[in-house]
Amino acid sequence: MHYHVNGDIVPESEATVSVRDRGFMYGDAAFETIRAYGGSPFEWDAHADRLRATCDALSLDHGIADDELRRRVRRTLDANDLREAYVKLSISRGVQPGKLTPGPTTNPTVVVIVSELPRGGIAGESVWSGPATADVVETRRVPDAALPTRAKTHNYLNGILARLETDADEAVMLDSSGAVTEGATSNLFFVRDGTLHTPSLSGPVLPGITRDVVLSLAEAEGIPTETGRYEPDDVLCADEAFLTNTTWEVRPLARIGATEIGEGDETVELGGGDVTAQLADAFDALVGTRHYAGSRD
Ligand code: PMP
Repeated sequence: MHYHVNGDIVPESEATVSVRDRGFMYGDAAFETIRAYGGSPFEWDAHADRLRATCDALSLDHGIADDELRRRVRRTLDANDLREAYVKLSISRGVQPGKLTPGPTTNPTVVVIVSELPRGGIAGESVWSGPATADVVETRRVPDAALPTRAKTHNYLNGILARLETDADEAVMLDSSGAVTEGATSNLFFVRDGTLHTPSLSGPVLPGITRDVVLSLAEAEGIPTETGRYEPDDVLCADEAFLTNTTWEVRPLARIGATEIGEGDETVELGGGDVTAQLADAFDALVGTRHYAGSRD
C-alpha cells in the first residue's frame, strides 16, 4: 500500500511520523473515517465540516484548504488503484517543543491511509457478518463539558475502555445521568410503534455523518422521527434497533445484553425489521445514485 504523509505519497514501510508527534504523545489530533464508493468520497462536505469543527474545538489551525485535503484523499486512492475503500484522514498538531501547552500549529502532520472495503449495501458484499450484538457497558460517555463531543480526536480511550468490557460487536454507552448516548464507534437508532428514535445531539453523542443521512432519508421516506433523551429500557423494548457508521452503514441490532430486540413481536424479524430494511434500502439507493450512476466526480 501507499499512503499520503505530509504532502507526499510514500510506500507503507516509509509512512511514519515522529515519536515526538503530539498525535502520538497526547492524542492531540483530529481525524475522519471516510468511505469511498466508486472512487469518490461519500459525503465529503460533511466530513470536511466535522473535521473543521474538531480542529476548532482543539484550536488546531492547520491552514490546509478542504480542496487540498480532498486532493490528498484522491491521490491516495489513485496511488493504490482503489475505488471501494476505507479512508482515514488525520491531522495532528505535529512536533512541538516538549510541553503540554500547545503552541501555534506551524507544522501539522497530515496523513491519509486507505484500505480496500467492498461497496456493501444490499446487493454488494457486506462488510459485516450479520446483525450486530451489543452490551450496555459500565464505562460512561465522557461529558461534553470535559471533552467536546463533536470533536473526533485521536484520543479514543473512552470507546476503547467501553469495548474492553464486552465481547459483543458494539458497546452502548450511557451518559453520567444514565441516558443512552451511542456506541463506541456508532450511533444508535430504535423503532417503536413505527417511529424512529435516536438520542439527540444535546447529549454527548458524536454527530455521525451516517446518522444525519439516515435522518434525512427517514424524512424523505415519510417515517416519523424523534430525537430525545432515552433510558436503556426504551431501547430494550423497541420493535427494531440498528447502528450506523461510515463502515457499517445501517447495521441491524439483534440483541442488547440478554434482550433480543423485537422479541415477542411476530411481525418483526429479529435483527432487522421493516423500518431498518427500508432505511438500508434507501441508503443503498442513495449511494447507487450518487456514486455509480454517472461518471466519477
Ligand atoms: N459515534 C462515535 C463515537 C464514532 O466514533 C462514530 C464513527 N465515526 C460514529 C458515532 C458514527 O459516525 P459516522 O457515521 O460519521 O461514521
